[in-house]
Amino acid sequence: MSTLLFVQQDADPFRIITEFLQSPVLRITVQLLVLLFIVVWVALVYWTYTDAGRRGTSGILWGIVAVILPYLGTLIYLIVRPPEYLEESRERELELAVLERELRNNTLLCPNCRNLVEKDFLICPVCNWELKKPCVNCKRPINMEWETCPYCGTNQRSGKRISW
Ligand SMILES: [Zn+2]
Ligand SMILES: [Zn+2]
Repeated sequence: MSTLLFVQQDADPFRIITEFLQSPVLRITVQLLVLLFIVVWVALVYWTYTDAGRRGTSGILWGIVAVILPYLGTLIYLIVRPPEYLEESRERELELAVLERELRNNTLLCPNCRNLVEKDFLICPVCNWELKKPCVNCKRPINMEWETCPYCGTNQRSGKRISW
């Protein structure tokens, strides 16, 4: 009699858990969680595949990795993936090339303060260093050491045009 009472009392808290485990609410919740797991997994596989393709690595290979290792595959990919998109890096290279060409064509470094100055500047705006002198005739900027203006052919000391 006393043993039965003991068992009944002891079983009481477990009955709630048992009922909960058998309840349709839990079953539906678990099914929903499984569904959510699969949906996110498929989305991650798709994302890994397209992102890898855009970054110039094998999209198919990383897609397979993401399928075989749900979640973990994408995590591994995130760690080892190339740092930028292929188009972005190409664009940046192009931008750099344009910038370099511009620098080569239009600008120089001031020999005194090493700041960028434009090719036709007479004086460095930063340190006032004399970069060029204006031609006595056509006023175009020419190198300090040049005897004759390369644009109009005027000798800088005599002011006379060189005759060819
Ligand atoms: Zn300067
Ligand atoms: Zn000149």
